[in-house]
Amino acid sequence: MRIVLLGAPGSGKGTQAQRLQAKYGVPQVSSGDLLRDAVARGTELGLKAKAVMDAGQLVSDDIVLGLIRDRLSRPDAEKGFILDGFPRNIDQANALAELLEALGQPIDAVLLLEVGRETLIKRLAGRRVCPKCGTVYNVHSMAPGATGCAKDGTELQQRPDDKEDVVIKRLEVYEQQTRPLVEHYAKLGLLRVIAGEGALDEVFERMESAALAQPVPADKVSVGKEATKSRKKAAPAAKRKSAQKSASAKRAKPKKAARKAKKAPAKSAGRVGTKKVKAKAKAKAKAKSKSRPRTKIAAKKAKKKAKLAARKSPARAAKKRAGKARKKK
Ligand code: AMP
Repeated sequence: MRIVLLGAPGSGKGTQAQRLQAKYGVPQVSSGDLLRDAVARGTELGLKAKAVMDAGQLVSDDIVLGLIRDRLSRPDAEKGFILDGFPRNIDQANALAELLEALGQPIDAVLLLEVGRETLIKRLAGRRVCPKCGTVYNVHSMAPGATGCAKDGTELQQRPDDKEDVVIKRLEVYEQQTRPLVEHYAKLGLLRVIAGEGALDEVFERMESAALAQPVPADKVSVGKEATKSRKKAAPAAKRKSAQKSASAKRAKPKKAARKAKKAPAKSAGRVGTKKVKAKAKAKAKAKSKSRPRTKIAAKKAKKKAKLAARKSPARAAKKRAGKARKKK
């Protein structure tokens, strides 16, 4: 079992790693624990890391990588390991791949524990640790008024980086630097996503089955490809072509309109008209204004003219002739 546990701070990586370690006998390798140990021992490296950790930032890659390299070279890691909290960015992931290749121990799976933001904040800000035996508690599930370790009575402490403002920073750092690893490992075909909320035993069962499942090689995964293919087949070729045409026309139209709007003066921007149409409209307007009399005298003249024209009209002459003929009879 050579696995990497991925997930935001507070997603339960440490707790589940301890359970996997107890059941499968492979060591939990936690970069956070290695760093905290260096801090507690007051080593030069620990002193360097402390301020960065207390601010919720990531310790430099070379410091963490050095600790991980030493730990994975120990004999108990030969039969496998559960990496908890490492890698935390793409550079660390690449360095780990190189290191494991040199050790001849490639990763079997990357398990991502998904937990909602509110739960993460509640878990982290409520976490209390026994400084003597390391047992982890949460104020939300402890007996009211209890402040000591149930095993040895030692007063429980809050980790400096579990203070709420630092927790918010750590979640931000996770989103920016660690989240890209999800896509990275998905592309490598190693990622398995596990719902991290609910009872500890249930989450553990999900992790176990995900860790032990046989991975399907990427070239054997054809469900998605087939589904797209069959949908394309179902549509007749002509229909597909016309759909493509109208889609490209839709895409082209706004470009054309935009070009015309750009050419037209600002006043008429957006009005699209040809020269011919404009000339026709002008002529029509001129004719209309000509037929309309401008003054009262002109109007009278026009009326007289119209009467005379009507008298001269062939229909009126025919009517006159018919009347005369009737009188003669
Ligand atoms: P953790 O216990 O995994 O939440 O880690 C506690 C703190 O240790 C983090 O907030 C970081 O400051 C530091 N840390 C742990 N793992 C890494 C890592 N892989 N790279 C850089 N910093 C780390």
